[in-house]
Amino acid sequence: MQITYDFSGKIVLVTGGGSGIGRASSEAFGAAGAIVAVADISEKNGLETVEAIRAAGGTAEFIFVDVSNEESVKAMIKSVVDTFGTLDIAHNNAGIEGNHIPLAELPSDNWRQVIDVDLTSVFYCLKAEIPEMMKNGGGAIVNTASASGLIGGYNLSVYTAAKHGVIGLTKAAAMDYANKGIRINSICPGAIDTPFIAALPKPLIDRVTFATPMDRLGQPREIAQSVLWLCSDASSYVTGHSLSVDGGVVLGGTGTR
Ligand code: NAD
Repeated sequence: MQITYDFSGKIVLVTGGGSGIGRASSEAFGAAGAIVAVADISEKNGLETVEAIRAAGGTAEFIFVDVSNEESVKAMIKSVVDTFGTLDIAHNNAGIEGNHIPLAELPSDNWRQVIDVDLTSVFYCLKAEIPEMMKNGGGAIVNTASASGLIGGYNLSVYTAAKHGVIGLTKAAAMDYANKGIRINSICPGAIDTPFIAALPKPLIDRVTFATPMDRLGQPREIAQSVLWLCSDASSYVTGHSLSVDGGVVLGGTGTR
């Protein structure tokens, strides 16, 4: 991983840090000198990320969290502060996709589960992170939304609703804390080559790739580099923004190729 930013001494929390985008973000922060709290519901995956960061000469610890549970989120933040003394940066990234079926067939318990894990979790994280950052006089937060937070998706009603919600929540939170030194942005990945996408049927992956003007899946490190930019001083006047990193998938448009 190319080091493009200097986060030396910064305490960084990444949720869903055990896999895919969160692992790439954790590793990129670690390579850029940050002390990384890798939080995940999977201890095995989280520890693998921690080992990868340490093997590259960085500093990291694993923290268990179920982001859909407010008490678990509070315990995660307490653990970060007890272990490292403070919190400077957070990447609220953990998420699940939910069932791929038309809306009328979506079980209501799947609706609730995806809203809890993908949207309410971001509220819980922001609520717990912001007071700690206020003690430092500021901080930076990136929430992982999705291209599905900007456009509709076939058979993806709850995921689309949750990710639109993440973008709205990011804008509102950014306004509440813009003059208090905390910048809050969201990132909108297109189809990224992670276990999340690998779990889909091959014809669906092919369709998603075809719908992407760049004609390929993105790599997790391509999202990580944008997350680091949004958390760095290079983006010091950017807040409430939803940054598309998606090979052009939200451009839509007409015509054929
Ligand atoms: P992934 O499945 O590779 O990783 C997700 C991680 O989140 C896993 O380590 C998992 O254990 C963890 N997790 C799941 N539920 C959790 C919970 N309740 N509490 C704590 N951790 C939990 O997925 P990914 O592709 O890296 O996705 C990461 C984020 O990016 C998600 O929010 C997803 O919606 C978003 N996203 C992914 C893509 C894509 O194409 N991969 C596209 C757009 C947005």
